Amino acid sequence: MAVTVEAIGYRLTADGSFHHRGFPIDPKPDEVVVEVAGCGLCHTDIGFARGGVATRHPLPLILGHEISGRVIDAGERSMQWLGRSVIVPAVIPCGACEACRANRPTICRKQFMPGNDGDGGFASHVVVPARGLCAVPDTLPKDITLPMLSVLADAISTPYEAIDRAHVGPDDVAVFVGVGGGGGFGVQIAAALGAYVVAIDISDMKLELASQHGASLTLNARTLTPKELKSSVRSVARKGLKIFETSGTAAGQQTAFNLLDYGAYLAIVGFTPDKVELRLSNLMAFDATARGNWGCAPDKYPAALQLVLDGKVAIAPYVELHYLEELPTLIDQHTPLRPVLLP
Ligand SMILES: [Zn+2]
Ligand SMILES: [Zn+2]
Repeated sequence: MAVTVEAIGYRLTADGSFHHRGFPIDPKPDEVVVEVAGCGLCHTDIGFARGGVATRHPLPLILGHEISGRVIDAGERSMQWLGRSVIVPAVIPCGACEACRANRPTICRKQFMPGNDGDGGFASHVVVPARGLCAVPDTLPKDITLPMLSVLADAISTPYEAIDRAHVGPDDVAVFVGVGGGGGFGVQIAAALGAYVVAIDISDMKLELASQHGASLTLNARTLTPKELKSSVRSVARKGLKIFETSGTAAGQQTAFNLLDYGAYLAIVGFTPDKVELRLSNLMAFDATARGNWGCAPDKYPAALQLVLDGKVAIAPYVELHYLEELPTLIDQHTPLRPVLLP
């Protein structure tokens, strides 16, 4: 029961330009058509468009992997989603392979990432697997809108997965290096779990925002030396030291690694193609752990969403709304807050 809709989106081509084109939409039995309400513009999209990072599906391709919207058409096996408001996970595992069966869905090699493995959310509509969709209640609390919830698909869920794996709790100091985008949400999630939260950034504006939303201590890495940063973090020590690199920059990774201490845990949450020089043996000397995570398992989305619905994680102060038509200019701009594009 196909509905006739005009779908249109911004397709990135190999020369780096975006082309506004219509495209056919036709869901397979296990797929749905989502009318996009909002799509977040991620650091990774800028890497794809400008940083020489290759998409897994060759260009031309519609980018965008932080999608919320409403299901307006569904394949024959996915009809239960028709009419529902949803968040589309950035990483959608196949559910059947060896990794998925071993409960390691984020390393599924048959995963689908919108805007990387196929067309994404910088469009009026997107076709995605129904598997893993996160249902959003029809009535939302004041200050929360469906377009804003798009950032759950990556900027909230990816730090959520990292924090969940690190078993952050009241006995921990959780340090976030880089508190724009994902880091700002990470600060709030860790604070909601009872941790003492330290925010490190080079922007006073971001640090001020973090102090209003969960951070007990803020440190500016531009004005403090690495030694001073380390002693400030040590001065608030609790049982566990858990460091989250959320800046996705080489400088941030260097800062995060320099904070390691005995028994500490380091999570690499942000992405950069740049390299850093480290004394990796510090892990051994400190009996420390370093870990990364590729997105978040879809079955954890409802718990992450609940933190937002309960008012424990605020989205509004961390996003700025733009029209989708602004994508070609926004991709080359540095915005302090996470842009959410509205078709
Ligand atoms: Zn992303
Ligand atoms: Zn799989």
